[in-house]
Amino acid sequence: MGASITFLMYHELELPGRPLVQSDAGYVRYILSLESFKSQIRWLQQNGWRGLSVGEALRYPEGKSVAITFDDGCETDLIVAAPVLKENGFNATFYVTAGFIGKAGYLSSAQLRELRALDFEIGCHSMTHAYLDDLSPADLRREISDAGKNIAGMIGHGVEHFSCPGGRYSATAIEVAKASGYQSLATSRARANSTATNPFLLGRVAVLRGTENAGFERICSGEALAKMRWMESARGAARKLLGNALYDRVRGQILRER
Ligand SMILES: [Zn+2]
Repeated sequence: MGASITFLMYHELELPGRPLVQSDAGYVRYILSLESFKSQIRWLQQNGWRGLSVGEALRYPEGKSVAITFDDGCETDLIVAAPVLKENGFNATFYVTAGFIGKAGYLSSAQLRELRALDFEIGCHSMTHAYLDDLSPADLRREISDAGKNIAGMIGHGVEHFSCPGGRYSATAIEVAKASGYQSLATSRARANSTATNPFLLGRVAVLRGTENAGFERICSGEALAKMRWMESARGAARKLLGNALYDRVRGQILRER
């Protein structure tokens, strides 16, 4: 049995005076300040952890490692996260939403190439950020296969890893990802991965705004994941009951009222 590795999920990072690409509570919940991100990466580095790309992590090296992933393809991937990762000798995978490339606040195609030239791994996070569990096979091909080809064309390199918008997926989505030539598909299920994990059902843990260093340490070591899985099954049941659209509205309402 090889190492068990937590795959961390980050999003846009917040810089003083710089507007985020979205401002609703459901989005901001996933946004860390540059300072929190830096302190987490430094903590990893100082405590003997390695930060890996998804491709590296899937070889499950021995020793303390986390996979570091970013979703959505925001501009802060390059201008904020990349320098911090490089300073600490860490790799990462940036899952990019193909249809967002070049929009305000997101990476341009030139910036995406720059990220790739820094030796970071580029993955795909769909075409339009649609939830995959609601889609027809034709739409799934566009969101999964066409999106990956678009990104590969821009960076001049194959795209081997896919992450699901909103963590939503279906058996058909997994089949389409396999048929499109991907090597893995990442969900948002709060579990660490190991050689026993199906690479098309990778667990990933969102690092939320306000995560303190103690909590972060428990995420990386895997200790915090059992409680997260319990909350996740409650959310999953609510989503099944309400459907995606209504669930998001209700959840947004609850977050606003907090
Ligand atoms: Zn996303």
